[in-house]
Amino acid sequence: MPIESLPTKKRIALVAHDGCKEDLVEWATHNREELAKHKLYGTGGTGTLIAAETGLKVRRFLSGPLGGDQQIGAAIATNDIDILIFFWDPLQPQPHDPDVKALLRLAVLHNIPTASNRATADFLITSDLMRAEYERRIPDFLRRLQEREELEDDD
Ligand code: PGA
Repeated sequence: MPIESLPTKKRIALVAHDGCKEDLVEWATHNREELAKHKLYGTGGTGTLIAAETGLKVRRFLSGPLGGDQQIGAAIATNDIDILIFFWDPLQPQPHDPDVKALLRLAVLHNIPTASNRATADFLITSDLMRAEYERRIPDFLRRLQEREELEDDD
């Protein structure tokens, strides 16, 4: 299986639905010192809020419902984001639900650490691996295709 290396200085994407923004801002404020050691990204609304409340530099994508979730998904796929902190709202339907699903799918597919709630984010940010390189296994699509072709040839 191919391996990609997560660098010591991680590129972290921060996203929160409106109902969870306060929670993420509080978490980011609490973990400001650790977050300052990494490179931060966010969807428009979340990024603006976190930058304003913490003073941290947050590179901003479009607002989530306007395509920001898809931009972050694409950045994960091209190996430009290492960690996703995404507080999605389990109590509120979202107009961009397909984008939310797509983002979470790509995060799982590309095997990047992903936190969808505060407890997981706490475990993640305090992990020793935050300060170390990490070898991340990623799916081997060519091998899968080859295996599929071999199966079809057998039929
Ligand atoms: P926002 O988007 O940070 O621009 O509000 C978040 C989202 O709904 O994905």
